[in-house]
Amino acid sequence: MIDLRSDTLTRPNQAMREAMAAAEVGDDVYGEDPTIVALERRVAELLGHEAGLFCATGSLCNLLGIWLLTKPGTEVLCDAQAHIVRAEMAAHASLHGVTTRTFPSVRGRIDPDTVTSMLSIGTGPFLTETSVVEVENTHNFGGGTVQPIEALNELRQRCTAQGVSIHLDGARLANAHVASGVSFADYGSLADTVTLCLSKGLGAPVGSVLVSSAENIARARIQRKRLGGGWRQAGILAAAGLYALDHNIDRLADDHAAARSLAEAVADAAPEAVSVEDVETNIVVIGTGAKTAADVVAAARDSGLSISAVGAHQVRAVTHLDVSHDDCVQAGRILGALLA
Ligand SMILES: *Cc1c(COP(=O)(O)O)cnc(C)c1O
Repeated sequence: MIDLRSDTLTRPNQAMREAMAAAEVGDDVYGEDPTIVALERRVAELLGHEAGLFCATGSLCNLLGIWLLTKPGTEVLCDAQAHIVRAEMAAHASLHGVTTRTFPSVRGRIDPDTVTSMLSIGTGPFLTETSVVEVENTHNFGGGTVQPIEALNELRQRCTAQGVSIHLDGARLANAHVASGVSFADYGSLADTVTLCLSKGLGAPVGSVLVSSAENIARARIQRKRLGGGWRQAGILAAAGLYALDHNIDRLADDHAAARSLAEAVADAAPEAVSVEDVETNIVVIGTGAKTAADVVAAARDSGLSISAVGAHQVRAVTHLDVSHDDCVQAGRILGALLA
């Protein structure tokens, strides 16, 4: 089975497992796990922030990052396809009393005019106040879209002028960095809180890091414990994250090339199904035309390819380090034949 449902499916290789087995550990609730401390420092430095917090999931990092920047009864503005509104089980609303208002986009790409026209500031007892704008880079359901740095700069300036914070869901920020050549720190400096997933294309089995100011991260550490997310000798997992940062960033370019080849193979047989030039990173969103996404997912499975449905007539293939370039081309051929 060629499994392209997600880049979370990657398994630690032998060298990563050895790094995990050799990790020095301690009790992280006491702040005494040296491997976690090293990982948090490293990611904070990489992203140009003061401090970091290692968490079990990207969703927990988003939950804490947005919690830091909001008060109950205020709102977050985000894209209608954002992970925080579609895939986090309404955590921000149900646990932290924050509502979301969503803006439309093309493939998840931020348009500063659209976003800033929706800011709700100083509206007294009439309208919900905007605390935060949330940006996703790359954009998952948008199809691995890289946010242009110019747009992010513009958005940051306008939000700062209005006293609105920015949270960056950087689950796949490493993919954006590799595709655009923009440094992690340049992206990181344009947000108050930033997340980075180690468990996606970077290939660690578990874990994400939230970065922000030292004061914010100290608060987030308490809220994480309150939510039951304090952990103990998790340095075993942090070691996998450090290994991933050492070895698996530059190779993301291979995943991007494989995604493009996959899209080309689909387009060879079914040109309407996919726009090859829109494939910027490791995610390919494919239209299923008259067929339903569920039918295409089932038929692909019968042909030895696992993908996921992301809309009624849209499927998604995600390339990653456990699938070869040739298998990605083969996946494109299978889908092309189904959609021709
Ligand atoms: C995967 C992902 C996350 C976090 O997912 P977890 O499964 O909670 O680690 C957050 N944002 C985006 C855009 C993602 O793709």
